[in-house]
Amino acid sequence: MQKERKLLIAGNWKMNKTVAEGLDLVNGLRRELSGVKEVDIVVCPPFTALSEVSKAILDSNIRLGAQNMSEQTGGAYTGEIAAAMLKEFSVRFVILGHSERRQYQKESDALIAAKALATHAASLKPIICVGETLAERESGVMEKIIGGQLKGSTAGLSKTQMEETVIAYEPVWAIGTGKTASTQQAQDVHAFIRRTLAHLFDDAVAKRVRIQYGGSVKPANARELMSQPDVDGALVGGAALEVRSFTDIIKNSI
Ligand code: PEP
Repeated sequence: MQKERKLLIAGNWKMNKTVAEGLDLVNGLRRELSGVKEVDIVVCPPFTALSEVSKAILDSNIRLGAQNMSEQTGGAYTGEIAAAMLKEFSVRFVILGHSERRQYQKESDALIAAKALATHAASLKPIICVGETLAERESGVMEKIIGGQLKGSTAGLSKTQMEETVIAYEPVWAIGTGKTASTQQAQDVHAFIRRTLAHLFDDAVAKRVRIQYGGSVKPANARELMSQPDVDGALVGGAALEVRSFTDIIKNSI
């Protein structure tokens, strides 16, 4: 299908895959996806597998992403990982503000904005996640929540930096639950996100930003979701852990 923006489909492996398991997965993906040019393909392994996965995808059409990054450039921050460390492994994308980190690590919009600035300072591209809970959707505050997350998490970015930023819309109630937003629900929120970006930055920036959908994306629903005008890719969790399902999501989206 012809899209206004090139599709970006990323697999978020979360806290899954040893190095050996990660290599199995990525070697399979490399074999299956070697001919795909229409989609930007990204895998986001845990930090411990970045080094080996990076070597395994050299000279392929698969790019590397990380699942988090410190807003600091280095120093006494036990357990943290800085941009320069990710760049050693040719990481290009960094997922920021995933709902699991917002929930379990209490990451705030301000912290996510600081991390986003740090990724850009290192020429890495952030994938900033936003999304509402079921209670927020049902009580009618969804746009207020997502609008606030967008404004807070992109604060301080220049227009050029925003154009190079990816937004992932991930309704919290659809992550890992098997419940997917309907294509219309996804399109409506993606259009709202683009309007909000036009307001926060400008129309030209909003037109260029890629907005991924995430939340129980599977081979069976990928085509319909990706056919929506404002859906520019997917951030995939569970279905990115198997060669067959991640490959089929990508092939079904073309
Ligand atoms: C995610 O956590 O980014 C995600 C979308 O997970 P899943 O595809 O398993 O719902």
